Amino acid sequence: MKNKITKSKFFSFFTALYVTLLQTLLLSVFLYLFSVLNVYFLCFWVVFSFIFSFVLIHYRLDKYIYNSIKNTYEELALIESTTFNSRLVNTDMASLKIEIDNYAKNKKLELEALKVREEYRKEFIGNVSHELKTPLFTVQGYISTLLEGAAEDPNIRDKYLKRAEKGVDRLIYIVKDLDMITKLEIGDLNLNLEAFDIIQLISNVYELLEIKANNKNISLVLDKNYLEPIMVIADQERIQQVLTNLVVNSIKYGHTNGTTEISVENLNSSKLIIRVTDNGEGIEAKHLTRLFERFYRVDKSGSRQEGGSGLGLSIVKHIIEVHEEKIYVESKLAVGSEFSFTLQKQN
Ligand code: ADP
Repeated sequence: MKNKITKSKFFSFFTALYVTLLQTLLLSVFLYLFSVLNVYFLCFWVVFSFIFSFVLIHYRLDKYIYNSIKNTYEELALIESTTFNSRLVNTDMASLKIEIDNYAKNKKLELEALKVREEYRKEFIGNVSHELKTPLFTVQGYISTLLEGAAEDPNIRDKYLKRAEKGVDRLIYIVKDLDMITKLEIGDLNLNLEAFDIIQLISNVYELLEIKANNKNISLVLDKNYLEPIMVIADQERIQQVLTNLVVNSIKYGHTNGTTEISVENLNSSKLIIRVTDNGEGIEAKHLTRLFERFYRVDKSGSRQEGGSGLGLSIVKHIIEVHEEKIYVESKLAVGSEFSFTLQKQN
């Protein structure tokens, strides 16, 4: 009820009151001069004049405000159809102010979100072109040299072609990672949840990475002999990607003759925790919080020699989060690292 007495009604009430008082005063003087002053008539006049003035002023005022605000509403409705279109034009200034304030606040939030997105976009494009530039120029360099005559020497030709091929492989590797991260970030990745044996999957990943590990004489082991299958519910292909990225990192950043060990433990009645541990170069504590960011590298030049895109761990984190699971990292410089993640058990 209180809300119904709007400011415009107050305004109309007092204006009508002043008009009535003035009219009554003038009328009293006039009637007095002609000696026909009548109290009953004056009382009637006060009531009549006040009601008439109030209704007229209020009507005119509302109409004036309505017309002035209508255009603004219509213009705003064109920009912000959801907020203004469905409502009737409001002539109450207080609620109109609240509406405009809310509108401005929403717009400010939208603008801030757009700025953040724009920053992210710029940074992303900058990083992508930076990553692609090096292998692209390498490939271009070798091809140009071959075209300029180096191709005539079969030894040089083969050597340069192999190097160019390596550059192309690296480009493909980066583009694949970019494709994956884009899909993950726009939520375009449908999980294909199924029950599978995680021990079997770890063995497959180890088999696929055996040659890579052998090159550094790194042993890929399980913490114990798992006699029974351990069934989990997840997207097998994606979890294979997670394990591959973690094991590849443990080899890349592991010492020659080192060891990568995977263990699978019960975390609670419904979850398992899978730990990938290495005794490699380790990571300084200050880097740990940013490790899963896109393109983040501890040693910018070092890891690039190892052929990383800086996207591996952010892909891992995305995949684990799409599964609504958790990922953790513990590491000590010059001692080693442990990446662990949870998975849903099949009960
Ligand atoms: P990259 O393609 O550079 O390997 P990642 O996202 O996979 O990108 O890893 C980010 C950074 O984290 C790496 O550059 C490396 O410095 C560090 N890192 C990842 N895994 C390990 C590990 N097992 N041991 C030491 N450092 C690691």
